[in-house]
Amino acid sequence: MSLPQMKNYVNGEWVESDATTFGDVWNPALGEKIATVPYGTRGDVDRAVQAAKEAYWEWRTTPPLTRARYLFRLKDAFEENFEEIARVLTTEQGKCIDEARGEVRRMIENVEHATGVTTLMCGYTLEDIAKDIDCYGHKQPMGVFAGIVPYNFPGMVAWWFLPYAIVTGNTYLVKPSEQVPMTQTRIFEILDDVGLPEGVVNMVHGSRDVVNAILDHPDIEGVSFVGATPTAKYIYERCGATGKRVQALGGAKNIVAVTPDANLDAAMPSLTTSFFGCSGQRCLSGSILAPVGDVADELLEKFSASAANMKVGSGLDEQTAMGPVVSAAHKERVLGYIEKGIEEGADLIMDGRNFTVPEYPNGFFVGPTIFDNVKPDMAIASEEIFGPVVSVVRCKDLDEVIELVNTRNYANASCLYTGSGATAREFKYRVKPSMVGINIGIAAPMSFFPFGGAGNSMFGDTKGHGQEIFNFFTDTKVVIQRWL
Ligand code: NAD
Repeated sequence: MSLPQMKNYVNGEWVESDATTFGDVWNPALGEKIATVPYGTRGDVDRAVQAAKEAYWEWRTTPPLTRARYLFRLKDAFEENFEEIARVLTTEQGKCIDEARGEVRRMIENVEHATGVTTLMCGYTLEDIAKDIDCYGHKQPMGVFAGIVPYNFPGMVAWWFLPYAIVTGNTYLVKPSEQVPMTQTRIFEILDDVGLPEGVVNMVHGSRDVVNAILDHPDIEGVSFVGATPTAKYIYERCGATGKRVQALGGAKNIVAVTPDANLDAAMPSLTTSFFGCSGQRCLSGSILAPVGDVADELLEKFSASAANMKVGSGLDEQTAMGPVVSAAHKERVLGYIEKGIEEGADLIMDGRNFTVPEYPNGFFVGPTIFDNVKPDMAIASEEIFGPVVSVVRCKDLDEVIELVNTRNYANASCLYTGSGATAREFKYRVKPSMVGINIGIAAPMSFFPFGGAGNSMFGDTKGHGQEIFNFFTDTKVVIQRWL
């Protein structure tokens, strides 16, 4: 039986790619191929950009509230298809169905937030800046923008940008991750029914060639990227070379610290999902657990018990707490890090190698893994593993844990569990990562707050969603006028 093949969405139509090479899409719980994806070409990108360019002028002159009404319709359509989107997402990505539902909810929240365009896109005015002279600045759309997104959130991440881009009057092109192209394809089928004008949004599947064609395209004004740090840096530099606006969000090595006065029992559910949710494949996953002072033994006893209690299996099973990792190749990469941790001399107190789920013998599963007595300079405490592997770095006091946070290569997020307001304030004040959780795990900002890190976790200066995203997608035109 031949597998379904993804198509591009260009100018309001589903079209075949020019591709001569194709990739496989997998169900990671079953270890089975379920679809193929074309590795698109410069020609594919050109046609999509041309469609977006032709749609631009009429779309930008459409009143903002009229543009927002398409988003209201889109929200309703997403709600109607909510469960189905979540199931497609789990099938190709592997995460638990409840996490997939959470992701779809966050995607819809971005659509909802973007409908505030009529206040969030407003400019400002000041009369009499000099004798008889008034000044105003208003935000204008700029043209065609593009989004390039990663595999770990196949639905939501593109929507940190897309609704804001179009509601402000730009037109758009998305390149989904070639590992998980089915979710965005289903989302675009739903979008197609909403009747947005042709060419306002477009989607081209593919890999590096499509990315490079986007980065080099003279008619693309700006790029939003989310993915690994080396790719983010590459995107940032190449966009800079061609003078594009760019926001490039990269990887992470997030630390979760716990002080002795924390309520450990209350912390355990969010602490456990911070590390093992999405099998550790989140830019907001906990990666290092840092007990502060003499809480370490009690914390590790409770945390290990909580990890061991998780049901690992297919994400489509409602009881599952942790699914597989996305691919056989990624499983090998994660196992490689476990070997490395052993070589480096850390104590492997929970071993997720050779982990099998009898009902799913071919799935790409890695069991929950915990290393104790990890030193800050070990690879497992420095590099992004992106799997269910926890490195425990014991710290003597708050200064030491803040030092640990601020000397990682990344600065995406961090979290502290504590019973002390003063300790919490000190921690959030001094740590470098831009997203901080207090007694809540590594929590994701909602659509009306900005999303993004610092240091090597983000290149560019405008973060995803929040209010600032309206600046990324607009140019503030300042008019200074005198009528004599
Ligand atoms: P990735 O960088 O491999 O891929 C992301 C996108 O870039 C994909 O669409 C891919 O096709 C493209 N790409 C990959 N390599 C490329 C290259 N050399 N040249 C041109 N294009 C290339 O990332 P991934 O493995 O899909 O996603 C996981 C990574 O994303 C992790 O590092 C994770 O921390 C990060 N991430 C960050 C955030 C954030 O908000 N900071 C959110 C989600 C994921």
